[in-house]
Amino acid sequence: MSSQNPVFIPGPTNIPEAIRKACDVPTMDHRSPAFARMFKPAIAGVKRVLGTEAGQVFIFPSTGTGGWEAAITNTLSPGDTVLAARFGMFSHRWIDMCQRHGLNVQVIETPWGQGAPIAAIEAALAADASHRIKAVLATHNETATGVRSDIAALRGALDKTGHPALLYVDGVSSIGSMPFEMDGWGVDLAIAGSQKGFMLPAGLAILGASPKALAAMETAQLPRCFFDFRDMVKSYAAGGYPYTPSVGLIAGLAASIEMLEDEGLEQVYARHHRLAEGVRRAVAAWGMKPCAASPDLYSDTVTAVVVPQGCNGTALVQLAAEKYGVAFGVGLGEVAGKVFRIGHLGMLTDVMVLSGLATAEMCMADLGWPVTLGSGVAAAQEYYRTSAAQSVKAAA
Ligand SMILES: *Cc1c(COP(=O)(O)O)cnc(C)c1O
Repeated sequence: MSSQNPVFIPGPTNIPEAIRKACDVPTMDHRSPAFARMFKPAIAGVKRVLGTEAGQVFIFPSTGTGGWEAAITNTLSPGDTVLAARFGMFSHRWIDMCQRHGLNVQVIETPWGQGAPIAAIEAALAADASHRIKAVLATHNETATGVRSDIAALRGALDKTGHPALLYVDGVSSIGSMPFEMDGWGVDLAIAGSQKGFMLPAGLAILGASPKALAAMETAQLPRCFFDFRDMVKSYAAGGYPYTPSVGLIAGLAASIEMLEDEGLEQVYARHHRLAEGVRRAVAAWGMKPCAASPDLYSDTVTAVVVPQGCNGTALVQLAAEKYGVAFGVGLGEVAGKVFRIGHLGMLTDVMVLSGLATAEMCMADLGWPVTLGSGVAAAQEYYRTSAAQSVKAAA
């Protein structure tokens, strides 16, 4: 390609050159000691990113969706009840997957733009005196609406009601980009994928399982084979896999963790917050609003921008791709056409974000939307210029 622009979709994200190169490994015997030497630090690094010492990490050749499936099939039995709120496309798809696996999903319908409704979840747990609910499912960062839910508060609801349900958290678009505390929040199953915060190509489902989740695995009756944790536990103990792993991606994962930790996880989270805040200032300057209903819900990895009445968010995304070679995210499901999404996670700098905002403005002008060219860019420039630039390591 003669012109390679950054992508502004909330996954897959831009791949740093060093990570792309790290994935490029010669064929390696995955039963060799050399593979074990590469694999072990990757597992240890994932544990640090997830914030777990007590948990066990599993890495499958798959994607985040496979991670959902691994989580539920390893710990639940047909007919089990799980509690989940639906407030976007990803929470919806996970619910759909549970239903297709023969689970009984107690769904709390929640307006899109809201997060996990803590009070309603607490009430449902309190009402469940016989502890029929085996698991609570939460989408930490709803990528369709740009909403972050409060997982610590969710843990609080479980603790307050003394409910023993497992807590499963989809962190596919948050882990590695926003603070995540698997042990601190008492998360039993944490799910990530390779192509978002880890800045890798798609192809890995990355999971953390708590001791409580591993105990549930012993009695869970849902059928599983490819995703069976028990086979993984056995093989990992011997330094390997029950089948052929994605060796290149695992090599890349080790490099990804090195890059995240070289910057410092706290620094990575701060950078994402700054980048996101600049985007939000631009959105405000356009006279538009994020889909997320209130500032406490704002995601630092993706902003779903509500477009003005009579405008079509999908048209902007199509034009950006065709005319300028830049990728934004379309609105999904209930918010199709009503929003367009700016992904701001992974390998991204102030300067890259400014280019995305400038492109979005050109598309708006092309489409005849009511926007002043440069208005959003100027607001973001002013914010980036005056807030500390932790992201510019090279300048040090
Ligand atoms: C991307 C995403 C998924 C799905 O992951 P795939 O890797 O596309 O299977 C699930 N949940 C959330 C929150 C996501 O952002």
